[in-house]
Amino acid sequence: MKRVYNFSAGPAVMPESVLKEAAEEMLDYQGSGMSVMEISHRSSLFQNIIDTAEQDLRDLMNIPDNYKVLFIQGGGHVQFAMVPMNLFVNKVGDYIITGQWAKKAWQEAKMYGTANAIASSADRTFSYIPDCSDLPIDEDADYVYICLNNTIYGTVYHELPDTKGKPLVADISSCFLSEPLDVSKFGILWGGVQKNVGPAGCAIVIIREDLVRKDVLEGTPTMLKYDTYVTSGSLHNTPPVYTIYMCGNVFKWLKAQGGLEEMKKRNEAKAKILYDFLDESKMFKGTVEKKDRSLMNVPFVTGDADLDKKFIKEAEEAGFVNLKGHRSVGGMRASIYNAMPIEGVEKLVGFMREFEKANGGN
Ligand SMILES: *Cc1c(COP(=O)(O)O)cnc(C)c1O
Repeated sequence: MKRVYNFSAGPAVMPESVLKEAAEEMLDYQGSGMSVMEISHRSSLFQNIIDTAEQDLRDLMNIPDNYKVLFIQGGGHVQFAMVPMNLFVNKVGDYIITGQWAKKAWQEAKMYGTANAIASSADRTFSYIPDCSDLPIDEDADYVYICLNNTIYGTVYHELPDTKGKPLVADISSCFLSEPLDVSKFGILWGGVQKNVGPAGCAIVIIREDLVRKDVLEGTPTMLKYDTYVTSGSLHNTPPVYTIYMCGNVFKWLKAQGGLEEMKKRNEAKAKILYDFLDESKMFKGTVEKKDRSLMNVPFVTGDADLDKKFIKEAEEAGFVNLKGHRSVGGMRASIYNAMPIEGVEKLVGFMREFEKANGGN
């Protein structure tokens, strides 16, 4: 059997023990004689899977009781629409544009009302997080929206924006469960699970109760109302049962590893290895302002597009795959999510050193 070091931004590496356990349970889940894919979403077996997943997530993130946890199909792009459709009362949303995902959310919201770009780092290719200490927040803003970790550009907010009392909505897709977060500082936290949690197929939405409205924008489809998921326990229709099962298994794995404090420690150690090398290398350079560097997504370049190509090709042959940067940026990007073992990063840096020597660096 072949396993590689997978640095993909998403769908991404999963913990090997979780995959093995899923393989063992594939044909016969807990004596049912069926795979989780084959059991009814109305069965007690599945009810137990989704209830346990929710409780484990609540334990891991310390989610206060006045927040709901929802499992919603459609991934990130559907949340770009659901946020304004459900939160617009004055029909005004304030967006901080730190990359492609924030920009897409902003553009989507414009279809339903006024979406203001109140800060942006577009002037320097999204290589930093703008100063958010005194933003021109619209008095009528229903919320302020951020993308907490910018998967493509490799930046992260180390300090949350001052929203001047407006609810903060955050896309946490690529930093989900990578370190502890104070949920009470947010109105909504949502993440597509295929980056740092599980297989593609759903987004998890953590929403403060008072933001779940019944009087959402006129014409909002039933399946795009948060309230539908709240009142049905995310079981109004057939949910992505296998994805939810796998997410639940990852939550169990995270608890067994020591929870989010431990993940933060490990993620910091992994990122340090890579960033330290980028800072000392004469060939490879990080593309992001140091103070805003992400622990999860690390973009870097050689400054020579042909050399980048050669590196990506040889890295792949050596078992380090999916290192190509996003098509909008070029260069390389190593995504080093929770499930990437520290050896993967150490070996990657070893390979980069060798490549640098072999190609005229020191
Ligand atoms: C990948 C990603 C998205 C888009 O997710 P889809 O499920 O493909 O729609 C949105 N936001 C962030 C931060 C992402 O990394």
